[in-house]
Amino acid sequence: MSERLAGLAAAPGVAIAAPWVYRPAVTGAGEGASLEEAASAASRDLELLAGRLRNDGRADEAAIFDAQALMATDEELIGLAAARVAGGEDAASAMGAAGEAVAATFEALDDELLSARAADVRDVAARIVRHVVGADAPSLDRRSIVVAVDLAPSVTVELDRDLLAGIALEGGSRTSHAAILARALAIPAVVGVPGLLERAATATEVAIDGGAGLVVLDPDEAARDSLAGAVQAAEAARRADSAYRDRPLATSDGHRVLCAANVAEPGEAAAAFADGAEGIGLFRTEFAFAGRGTPPSEEEQAAAYESVLRAAGDAPVVVRLADIGGDKPLPYLPIDPEANPFLGVRAIRLADRYPELFTTQVRAILRASERTGRPASIMAPMVADVADVAFVRELVREACAAVPNAPAPRVGIMVEIPSAVMLADQLAEMIDFMSIGTNDLTQYLLAVDRTNPAVAERQDPVHPAVLRAIARVVDAARATSRGCEVAVCGEMAGDPTGAALLVGLGVDELSMGPASFGSVKRAVAARSHDELRSLAQRAMTLRSAAEVRTLVGEA
Ligand code: PEP
Ligand code: MG
Repeated sequence: MSERLAGLAAAPGVAIAAPWVYRPAVTGAGEGASLEEAASAASRDLELLAGRLRNDGRADEAAIFDAQALMATDEELIGLAAARVAGGEDAASAMGAAGEAVAATFEALDDELLSARAADVRDVAARIVRHVVGADAPSLDRRSIVVAVDLAPSVTVELDRDLLAGIALEGGSRTSHAAILARALAIPAVVGVPGLLERAATATEVAIDGGAGLVVLDPDEAARDSLAGAVQAAEAARRADSAYRDRPLATSDGHRVLCAANVAEPGEAAAAFADGAEGIGLFRTEFAFAGRGTPPSEEEQAAAYESVLRAAGDAPVVVRLADIGGDKPLPYLPIDPEANPFLGVRAIRLADRYPELFTTQVRAILRASERTGRPASIMAPMVADVADVAFVRELVREACAAVPNAPAPRVGIMVEIPSAVMLADQLAEMIDFMSIGTNDLTQYLLAVDRTNPAVAERQDPVHPAVLRAIARVVDAARATSRGCEVAVCGEMAGDPTGAALLVGLGVDELSMGPASFGSVKRAVAARSHDELRSLAQRAMTLRSAAEVRTLVGEA
């Protein structure tokens, strides 16, 4: 009898195939290579994988393996394993345990993006173990849907693409690397399916609908029919979206909005421009601070920002100051335990304790600007009021004095705290641009913890309260004498319904993951600017996010 399991939609597409249950072995008894030899061999494998992807024009995926190649010879990881070997443990078990320990520190960060890196560390450790014990890489022998707790990126790309029909994971999130890769490689995927491994153990066939976040074990005729309908609908949507990828982001009557990309690593920028980005609307710099013992040096940071500015050419690049602390603590920047980390010492609030962190980062951004001759846009996260903006302006002023030949940067803030919405008129007079972080703004406005699955249903940015807040910010920006642009860089910008409403509300720029460019452009092009404006006005009078989604879907 068929059994339906609900998970999270990670990569669209429908597939039916035999399950291939994957349980990575992270320990082993044999001894093939020494720890150091195995680590170097693993690092070489990963460099090769990165090179292969780069040759295929997949620079952003290649960056994942470049980072893993470095991780494989990371002193902390190998040092931990070597210490266990010195204590008498065999190299394979020691490596497995060291990988677990480092992965656990990532998982403890309680941040979806950073804790997803735990899977990368486990993957690197498992690869080193394979070299230690001389084991073969996992491989498929028939067309299969891979069923696993989590799937390392390197395993995903190494599996035979002709046999890999889909991915279903018990763990993972939409922002885990497995999900990001599945989307990039167009492999249907569902993640976050509780109890999946145990239930799938006896199944002979598995069906997944990656657009709906559905897994069906041993699908019966009725389930197959409805999946076949979903296949046709998904295929039609994919074809329709791809026809829009190379067009500008504009309404049917030609009102243009800047189509920008969100990136987390410098290597993603070039790929974003190849996909049609007109700028980088959000460079989440905090990733460079994670998974290491000390902050990246000024020079390391400058090199990263330089590479993004070079990839951008004349296009704008918004570098966000590191959004660390609170829910994303770092071991080398200790913060006292907090009952409500989301309301605590996060982002620029960390400057009270660690001012050097930000002075170094702003100087690094200006050095990159000086080298490329391109102005950067510097954006502060978690700004609450005028005092925060004044602090950021002073930070930038001091850095400009230290790097006098850098082109003057544009200075902006993220609007993600309700007080910044209420005070948007004051803030807009002091800055060049505002970028609305709808992920946090929704969290704070609706009082729904963005990491708590129990209130995930309530976390919808098209809620009328969020729409009214955005309208207020746009009005405040328009009223300034100096001209202040308004962008949106939260996930709402990459959601076709959200994007259509945002254009109707009058924002100047939408910044999103490049995978959303096609569907967002199609949604915005479906209506004229006036139609979107009146749609947004009506949406603000409704009573719930569900009513708004119905309105936009039906209008
Ligand atoms: C946001 O809050 O919407 C945002 C873009 O920032 P982050 O998701 O990194 O907190
Ligand atoms: Mg945010």
